[in-house]
Amino acid sequence: MANINTNPSRSRAELTPSLQELLNITARYEAERKKRLRKDGNAQYIEPSNLSSTPSPISSNPYSQFSKDPWVDLGNTGSLETKFPSKRTSVLIIGAGWGGLQNAIRIITISKIPAAKIRIIDAAGSFGGTWYWNRYPGLMCDIESHMYLPYLEETGYIPRHKYAYGSEIRSYAETVAQKWGLTSSAVFQTTATKIVWDEDEKEWAVDLVQRGTEMQIRASFVVLASGVLHSPKLPLIPGLLEFKGKMFHSSRWDYEITGGSEKDLSLHKLKGKRVAIIGTGATAVQIVPILAKWCKHLYVVQRTPSAVDTRDQRKTDIEWFHQHVASGPGWQRARIKNFHRHLVLDETEKPAINLVNDGWTRAPGLLGLTGHPNGPMTPDEIPAYRARLIELDTPRQNRIRARVDQQVHDPIIAEKLKPWYPTWCKRPAFHDDYLQAFNRTNVTLIDTDGKGVDEIKPEGLIIGDRKYNVDVIIFATGYQAPPSGSPAEKANMTMIGVNGVSLSEEWAVKGPATLHGVLDAKFPNLFLSGPQQASTSGNYRFNLDELAKHTAYILAECNRRAKGAKFAVAPSVEATEEWAMQVIMRSAPFGVMAGCTPGYLNLEGDIEKVPPEKRMILARSSVWGWGIENWIDVIEKWRDEGSMKGIVVR
Ligand code: NDP
Repeated sequence: MANINTNPSRSRAELTPSLQELLNITARYEAERKKRLRKDGNAQYIEPSNLSSTPSPISSNPYSQFSKDPWVDLGNTGSLETKFPSKRTSVLIIGAGWGGLQNAIRIITISKIPAAKIRIIDAAGSFGGTWYWNRYPGLMCDIESHMYLPYLEETGYIPRHKYAYGSEIRSYAETVAQKWGLTSSAVFQTTATKIVWDEDEKEWAVDLVQRGTEMQIRASFVVLASGVLHSPKLPLIPGLLEFKGKMFHSSRWDYEITGGSEKDLSLHKLKGKRVAIIGTGATAVQIVPILAKWCKHLYVVQRTPSAVDTRDQRKTDIEWFHQHVASGPGWQRARIKNFHRHLVLDETEKPAINLVNDGWTRAPGLLGLTGHPNGPMTPDEIPAYRARLIELDTPRQNRIRARVDQQVHDPIIAEKLKPWYPTWCKRPAFHDDYLQAFNRTNVTLIDTDGKGVDEIKPEGLIIGDRKYNVDVIIFATGYQAPPSGSPAEKANMTMIGVNGVSLSEEWAVKGPATLHGVLDAKFPNLFLSGPQQASTSGNYRFNLDELAKHTAYILAECNRRAKGAKFAVAPSVEATEEWAMQVIMRSAPFGVMAGCTPGYLNLEGDIEKVPPEKRMILARSSVWGWGIENWIDVIEKWRDEGSMKGIVVR
């Protein structure tokens, strides 16, 4: 058992809990979870952007207002005719966020394929992915910027704050695209609706749509980097479309309604307005303090409170950065490795120095989300492991609950803002001003005790037996959940591989059949970006870069062997079965997600409803359960061995 009392700076609230306290807390967690379990599970939501199988036009979709692009610059797009004059490309990358950009850069630098032979498509109007769509006031990344922003050594860029704001991240993505010559590779406002493998030609036929114009192109290789939390979702609240005021989803912020802009946070059009924000996840935690300053009255509708730790935002001290952060070649990788070790190892195994030293590295309960090399190996070991994690996690959650009492003046409101679940059940939040917002007289917390909004009327919200008239409703209700669906569903595409097999159908019947999470046996020359059968990290951007490096290595090695001839690359079925077995054998640490309060991480509780015959699919779909650094060790050894074991090039 890890020693949880070695840190002399622990506050009183963080002292080792007694057995009785642990029993009481576990019982409270279970009671709160039960309150929130719903029969409709994940079906309580719809995805406005996926309601039509052809992305354009979507005017028949009554929810289309929630997914329209508020930022698009039509001049920036580049038509399909000009971007694909010969209707073909060597590499087609789907997604222009960090995943797509990093894949392109690794393919340029490792596979030695020039940018001119790469096309990156995205439904958005520019680079950035989630940082393109999300421009809400207060947006920042609460993963330390010095390890979140990639290639700082190569670009020489120094992030302005410990936690970079959204606009800085987006503009840095554009800088990175320019530096590696990718600006003219981009084809924006474009989606791929279908890819079909052509065995004779050893290439993909890809159906593209750009603002209603369709074109079929050919691509030797397709890289899927379409994201995991990119499809905004709305709760199916009765009467939602009847609301007569203004409404929008947080990922499509409407500054026409609120006033201000991404860089000017004066939301002056909300003066005199009654605003409701639905949801209290990581997004709402960043928005609420700013909304509270501008609207006449803010109603914060809470179903489950976030666990909100300090953020400790500060400007980057340039001298400190040079001396203590960018201390020598390879510093960024070393910093990320140190971060991961503090995230996934037992207290006794962590390095003595904690370079990032943030709230993530001081939350031992995150082992439930990141995986753990010393975790359980079999399902029957999970209950004891869960009990051990609760014991490790309780001091931290006690401190988070005590923090609410310190920040919120009214003890009745404070009680409602306390999270009653273990850290791993919901993504942790970090903010210095969120809780204090509830001390303002113009802010009302509507705690629905796990139930949510009952109905929406033309004038406002019905919650329990009360009606709240409002002028604006903001849905901070999140995104379709990562554990669900194959890469085809996530990308809203049809994918047809060898002998006409559909990726959605294959994965639904048997689960993923990949090598290292990047190549599926029946879908040659299609490179995936996990997370199934690959890894995960609190710093998800970095995780995507490791997958991109792996893809680029395989592509380079195949090109070298093929000596200019066309080829198809895919793992053998035996290799994918062996990899699936490795993934399954390490999946038990994630068994603690069973018993969690509902949320996107457990498909709103649906994961526990999976019938026994389908549980093997779930285990096969797991990410690497021993943590990302262990996964990187495994794939780096595989690359170093040099024979591309398990891969067939034909
Ligand atoms: P979440 O899914 O985390 O939160 C959605 C919120 O909406 C929850 O509070 C949920 O309640 C609530 N909700 C859903 N339906 C209803 C309803 N019918 N009535 C009332 N409330 C409802 O989405 P977020 O956008 O907050 O965050 C998504 C993810 O985006 C994060 O987990 C994180 O990965 C990423 N993110 C990252 C940031 C960063 O700094 N890097 C910042 C912000 C987001 P309940 O909990 O009960 O389901």
